[in-house]
Parts: sequence; C-alpha cells; structure tokens
Amino acid sequence: MLIKRFARTDDASSPNAGRRRALRAGASTLILALTGPRLAFANAIVAVRVWPARDYTRVTLETDNPVKFQQQLMESPNRFVIDLDEVDLSPALRDLVSKIQPNDPQIMQVRVGQFKPGVVRMVFDLKAGVKPQSFTLPPVAGYKYRTVFDLYPAVEPDPLMELLAKSGHKAEALAQNTPPASSISPSSGAGTPSTEESEAFFQRYAQREQGPRPSRTAPAPAPDKMPTLAQRKGDDDDGLSTPLPSRGPKTARLLTIALDPGHGGEDPGAIGSSGTYEKVVVLQIAKRLREKIDAQPNMRAMMTRDADFFVPLGVRVQKARRVDADLFMSIHADAFTSPSANGASVFALSERGATSATARLLEKTQNASDLIGGVNIKTNDRAVAHALLDMSTTAQIRDSKVFGSALLAEIGTVADRLHSKNVEQASFAVLKAPDIPSVLVETAFISNPKEEQYLNDPAYQERLANALLKGIRAYFAKNPPIAKNRTA
Ligand SMILES: [Zn+2]
Repeated sequence: MLIKRFARTDDASSPNAGRRRALRAGASTLILALTGPRLAFANAIVAVRVWPARDYTRVTLETDNPVKFQQQLMESPNRFVIDLDEVDLSPALRDLVSKIQPNDPQIMQVRVGQFKPGVVRMVFDLKAGVKPQSFTLPPVAGYKYRTVFDLYPAVEPDPLMELLAKSGHKAEALAQNTPPASSISPSSGAGTPSTEESEAFFQRYAQREQGPRPSRTAPAPAPDKMPTLAQRKGDDDDGLSTPLPSRGPKTARLLTIALDPGHGGEDPGAIGSSGTYEKVVVLQIAKRLREKIDAQPNMRAMMTRDADFFVPLGVRVQKARRVDADLFMSIHADAFTSPSANGASVFALSERGATSATARLLEKTQNASDLIGGVNIKTNDRAVAHALLDMSTTAQIRDSKVFGSALLAEIGTVADRLHSKNVEQASFAVLKAPDIPSVLVETAFISNPKEEQYLNDPAYQERLANALLKGIRAYFAKNPPIAKNRTA
C-alpha cells in the first residue's frame, strides 16, 4: 500500500532530499540571475535515479517541470545521446556518472557535460545491442515530473528458458525417481488422511502425461466427479492391462510457483515509520520462500523480480503465464493511516468489485503501482495481450480462494493475528491470469511499528516463508493439478 509514501527524509536519494536540493538550487539560481551574466535555467533537477537490472536498466530524471529533450542512438560503438534543454548541469546530474555500477547489465558508462549554453548532454555508452526507450510521466504520489530512459538488452531474459536451465536436471531426477503409477496403492480413504497419506497423495499427483499442458480455461468438474485413486486403480486392473487411451507414458513434473514480490524500483510500496521499504522486505521474504520451494523435490519457483527494479503489473502476470505456473503469489506488506492496524490478509480476484472498504482502498493503491512505478504506455499495451480480457475467470477465482484459505490457515499459526480470517476479494490487476490460481498476500502492516519490526526480522521472515510453503503444499495435497488437467 502507498499511504505514508516518502515519509522518510534522511535518505539522500529520496525525493524529499531531492526537493531540499531543488530548493537550494532554486535559491542559487536567483542569486545568479541577479549577479552574474551567466544564463541559469529554471527547470531544477530534483533527483536522478538509476535502477540496474537484467530485464532492463532504468534511468529517471525527476524535475520541477517537464523536460524538453532530443535523443539519438548512435552505432559502433553503441551510444545513446540525449540533449536536455533548459537544464543546468547541477550536482545531481553530475552524480549520474557515479551512479552507474561497473556491473550494470546494459550501460558501460555515462558521460555528462554542458554541450552548449542551456543544453546538457548525456552520453550513455551501451553494451552491444541495447535498445533504449524513453517516455515522460506526470507528477504522481511524491514524485514531480519524471523523464524515464529504459535500456533493454538485445535479447530480453526469458523466464521459461531460465527456469528450464535452473530446474531441468531436477525434472529428470523427479521423473526417474517416481515409480510407475500402477505400483502406487491407493490410500485407505477413511477418515482424515495422515500426513504420510497426504504426502503420498501429493507425490502421486505430481505426475502427469507428457506433452504440453492443456488449457485450464474449461470449467473443472465438481470435486465429486473427479476420478478417485481407487477408481483409477480399478481402471488399470480391468484384466486387459491396457492403459486408458488418453494417457501417454507417465512422467513426473515439477510444480511451478510464481512468486511476485510487490513494487520495486521507482515504486517503494508502503514505508514504515522506521524507514522500512515494503519493496525491500517483500523481496527478502520472497527469496526465502523461493529457496524453500526449490528445495522441494517436486517444485520450483519463478520470481517476477529478483532485484530492485519495477515490473509493470501486466508483465508480472505475463511472466507467470510464460512459465505456465501452477500458482501465483504476490507478496506485499499492508499500510493504513492508523498505526494500530495489524494482521495478515490474503486476497483473491473479484469480478464484481471489492468485498470490503479496506479491500476497496487497497484495490486503488495496488493498481496505482503502474503509475508510480512508471509504465511506458505504448509498449505496455503491445506487451500485454488483449486476449486476457475475454477469458473466464470464474474457475480461477474459485481455485484462488481455495489456495488463499490454505495459506491463511498456515499464516495464522505464525502471525499474531489475521487481519481477516477469510480470503478477501478485490480487482487487483496482478491477479488476472485467467488460468492460474492467484493470490495477493498482505504479510503484515508495515505501518504498525511492531509489525514493521517483525517484517525486518530474519527469524520472522523465515517462519512466514515456512508457513507460505506449508500452505502451498496443503493446497496441492487437496487440489492436485493433474486432476484438473486430465479432465480439461
Ligand atoms: Zn504493496
């Protein structure tokens, strides 16, 4: 959430610090205008920020007024040249040089200088094939005008290829270690299954046919229509010993969990009273959970971001769909005007608006993430397929609520209390993958000083990540993906 955004003033790179600098710059401009012959320009640079990442590196100029600029891409060597009109070569602009990290995936170095009176030139020496995009953003939240230069690598990282490279050997090991289906006996079925039985059930259903996974958009049958283990065993033992025609050779598959740490880069999310950034703690929690998921023999995690850079909401969904994720979990920390608000909550998508006033407020702020994070409208339209809008979400919402309940049951054992005992619903853009059960977890209130402390505590993060993993496992134990696939 976004309340209390930019409450912190001691960070040199914060917009408030920038504003102080801008005020000082404004004062010196006035003195120059009165005393010196040099022409000074009114458009003060409030801040210059760089967000390096493998996906893309973003350079943001924040200014009092919109910046007029000309840009050109020059080849051999690859350079991106930008002339900023009516801007002074301020210390903030000079600092850009030192803000480029030596290991920046896209930028080799930047040079900044006074090209001619009234024009500051920035020259980015780019790595091979880097493609720049630029756009401007109007003032929003704590930001003034922003001019954004996004530098994309020649070949953008493909989440699917990276996941396969990371987990290919694990998929093979799982396939080799899984006994053929006919050798697994059905569980007794009576009463509450023991942990071992759940485990066997879980392992059993981690198998599926080879080949691409069918679409899940067709409505799944009611749970009582799904074939039970006993029934399927019976099918195999009909005396003809031929497999069912629709089944190919059995192979185990890894279950893929998309983890989505909220916010990032220009979008800090909520900021606690001690200065904790939501984007930072949710990334830490997500990394802990990733490690635990990857340690499971039959699971793997994909993160929509694993560093401090902004990912538009639609792109987060797109990445999860690219890897054909079995589940999607967006991880956040809540905020409210009152510091006493506390507890965790879990949200699923709503087609008909939010289920409570709190959810309604949260819906607005979560969906504002793109405005604050900064999205290039032109390319985002192209990137996020319109097809998403037409697909039915009824089945997805039902599954998401079941997944959310499984998570709440486990989070409740870790958190002091749950903010809401039931899965809430709101129209969050990030939950709109039509074919992936998707939830948004508000882990705690970062605006509550005690919970802010929890969120920073490695031991608490660890307990929370364990609870989230348990919730994921509990969901799969009761809702094996294979049953849905088989009937789709
Ligand atoms: Zn958030």
